[in-house]
Amino acid sequence: MSKLFLSCDEASHVCDKFQYNESTFLERLKFKMHIIFCSLCKKHMVSNMKLTESIKKSDIKCLDAKSKSEMKKCFEEELKKQNTTE
Ligand SMILES: [Zn+2]
Repeated sequence: MSKLFLSCDEASHVCDKFQYNESTFLERLKFKMHIIFCSLCKKHMVSNMKLTESIKKSDIKCLDAKSKSEMKKCFEEELKKQNTTE
């Protein structure tokens, strides 16, 4: 039942589970072994990882309150300048 080598179908399934942290240690191990000799699945994993990373980054941007308040300050100062010159 638990074979050591995954098929490409199984490997891509495990790769998808990575995204949701649903993969087991054994699955990750098998997947790593698979991508050693399968460049196609390796490619799939890299593009998957990039996607997750960009999602994480955009989340951080949204939650960054400091830069938000700095932006607001800048905006208000610009607004003040405009009011005084007029
Ligand atoms: Zn494969």
